[in-house]
Amino acid sequence: MSAQTINSSRRRFFGQLAVASVGVAVVLVTTEQASAQAALPELSESDPTGAALGYRADSSKVDAAKYPNHKPDQMCSGCNLVQGNGADDLRPCAIFPGKSVRNKGWCAAFVPKPA
Ligand code: SF4
Repeated sequence: MSAQTINSSRRRFFGQLAVASVGVAVVLVTTEQASAQAALPELSESDPTGAALGYRADSSKVDAAKYPNHKPDQMCSGCNLVQGNGADDLRPCAIFPGKSVRNKGWCAAFVPKPA
């Protein structure tokens, strides 16, 4: 094996090692961000902002007389303002910074996800 072949193999090995290292770093950062979002405290129905928007942790418990535009199939999981991972029951919401909402929750700021 020539010195040129060894140098070429060495360069390829270190190049692949660098790419793998970047991939591991991205996975670690993504996992850390997901954990940070999951750690947000749950929005309480008695929270002043939540109560002002009629937030309920269970959409089926929304007061129909007070919110006649609410539809039974409207839930945070189908709202365009919910964030985070759809597999998580508690997720961040753009309307309630620093809090998380239930997938089956609802509030009057509901915006349907585009079809
Ligand atoms: Fe749920 Fe959407 Fe209201 Fe946030 S804005 S609490 S995701 S219905």
